[in-house]
Amino acid sequence: MGLHSGAEVTLRILPAHAGTGIVFRRSDLDGFEVEAISRNVARVSYATSLMKKGVLISTTEHLLSAFIGCGIDNAIVELDNLELPILDGSARPFVEAIRRAGIRQQRRPRTYLRMRRELGLREGDKSIAIYPADSYSVSYTINFPHPLIGKETFCVDLSDGNYLRQIAAARTFGSRQDEKTMRNMGLIRGASRENCIVLTKDGIENPPLRFSDEFVRHKVLDLIGDLALLGKRILGNVVADRAGHAMHTALVSRILRDHTLWEETTVDEENEPAPLAMRAAAHQPV
Ligand SMILES: [Zn+2]
Repeated sequence: MGLHSGAEVTLRILPAHAGTGIVFRRSDLDGFEVEAISRNVARVSYATSLMKKGVLISTTEHLLSAFIGCGIDNAIVELDNLELPILDGSARPFVEAIRRAGIRQQRRPRTYLRMRRELGLREGDKSIAIYPADSYSVSYTINFPHPLIGKETFCVDLSDGNYLRQIAAARTFGSRQDEKTMRNMGLIRGASRENCIVLTKDGIENPPLRFSDEFVRHKVLDLIGDLALLGKRILGNVVADRAGHAMHTALVSRILRDHTLWEETTVDEENEPAPLAMRAAAHQPV
């Protein structure tokens, strides 16, 4: 079920040739395809949605995040409705399904987008920036007025299976207090205790948390999914403070607009990190 629309949906992930990237396909609309790239970003508020010629693909961030975490560059994502399923509110069910299906290494070398200079965006007390680095790392700070959250920062280098161990399972969250307004606005028709952490005034309704700082980890998960719309793997360090989908996707379009900020590069086979899922498999048998 889609979190925002409440629409029931069936999703299949299919293999794709090298160079395809991630492409969504609406099986209910004659197989109309929408590429997971910045140019197709439509509205961005509580979730990130893509639109092409009026065809919507909503709430793309958790699956795109799982693809980055599993080392998937090419796939066709077929769905028969307008929104991706929310499942348990994290990326873990996607990751598990991908690992069960198996991952094939393709011959064409992977292209990376390597930052050469930094770029930052600020909006009031929110900010997001990306700095040159030899790997992909993220640092996120949130400041949420709730006794279980407050100010939390989480930093992670997305190599060595860290995504699978530290990020994939972090669930989305919402507060009981905002529920009525959001339901009336039609924004959370599919929300339930099974697919998000429900915050009450001073606790949560559906314990236990999967991590004591699960909230900020979920923001990292979302950020990784939104930055996947660059269409290439990133070599850079991203630092975000109270940002959200709108700022994440604004950073993506600003990066793509200025070609002097980055270069495309392929990493030498010898030194190329193994796909994350394969590496993680060595430590964490499924
Ligand atoms: Zn999310």
